[in-house]
Amino acid sequence: MKAYEYYKPQTIQEAIDLMEGLEDARFIAGGTDVLVLLRQTKIAPKNLISLRNIKDLTNIEGGDGLWIGGGATHSDIVKNVFIRQYYSALYDAASNLGSRQIRNVATIGGNICNAAPSADTACPLLVLDARVTVVGKNGERMVDIDAFFLGPNKTVLEKGELVKGFRMPFFGDNTGSAYIKHTRRQAMDLPILGIAARVTMEKTGEGLLCKDARIAMGVVAPRPIRAKEAEAFLKGKTISDDVLQEAGEIAASEATPRDSFRGEAWYRKEMVKVLTRRAIMKAIERAMQPQGVE
Ligand SMILES: Cc1cc2nc3c(=O)[nH]c(=O)nc-3n(C[C@H](O)[C@H](O)[C@H](O)COP(=O)(O)OP(=O)(O)OC[C@H]3O[C@@H](n4cnc5c(N)ncnc54)[C@H](O)[C@@H]3O)c2cc1C
Repeated sequence: MKAYEYYKPQTIQEAIDLMEGLEDARFIAGGTDVLVLLRQTKIAPKNLISLRNIKDLTNIEGGDGLWIGGGATHSDIVKNVFIRQYYSALYDAASNLGSRQIRNVATIGGNICNAAPSADTACPLLVLDARVTVVGKNGERMVDIDAFFLGPNKTVLEKGELVKGFRMPFFGDNTGSAYIKHTRRQAMDLPILGIAARVTMEKTGEGLLCKDARIAMGVVAPRPIRAKEAEAFLKGKTISDDVLQEAGEIAASEATPRDSFRGEAWYRKEMVKVLTRRAIMKAIERAMQPQGVE
């Protein structure tokens, strides 16, 4: 591993100025992706700029919507009762990511900026309509999470920009969300497939009507994607076994997975059908029980 200089800015502005002034520099937050790449000599930056001492990156604020700072750790997310109740898909993802040790240091910003197709928090952020606040030398800009990922390890971040945080709307009553991570083993593992769903429901004389829906899929394309056709199909439907089945089939038709050592493409497609159905059912259950995740 090559030697590097390590910088510890205290403010966002200081971090941006350092990045602007230093040659061959990289941000590091929890380091759980960066350090692996350094050890494997896949990257060898001359300078590392740590984001860990920047207090303005770690806040989580709930109320009329949700703000999560890019430097919030997965443990911070798991411990937050507001997230658990109203943004349950994110709670599901953060509570199952890595080990406790990883969750204590790894950040949501790092997970998203690393832009792995398997990033666990990506699908929840997609179904929760998150907007990413990006900050750089020219100030702040907002990017829809759906436009943030460009491909494996590629995002819209320009040189020197960092993710300040994520803003999500408040969805109100009768909305629930869920994330299902499909792995080969229960203990620490990256997903073979990840599916998130969010639904807003209404009880009618006919049954449970889906007023709005979001579905997102991870590890089925070069970047985490929304299953927009399946979402459109669900919206306005009264839920039945047939409707759930068809939503799963439509989502699978939108997936373009590839073979990898974690799972073959045909298997991933089949599992999209099963897990989409399950994620929607779990989201409906939560929508109809206002106290959220048990
Ligand atoms: C043992 C182990 C198990 C893991 N299990 C999982 C898992 O189950 N699911 C999963 O999704 N991931 C998993 N990971 C991957 C990793 O832990 C996560 O992606 C984590 O969230 C990365 O966060 P970090 O703060 O450690 O990022 P870092 O490693 O510090 O940074 C990752 C990348 O993001 C950039 N970056 C970080 N923060 C910002 C910011 N605010 N603005 C701009 N750029 C930024 C860095 O420059 C770097 O390119 C695992 C990793 C390990 C080592």
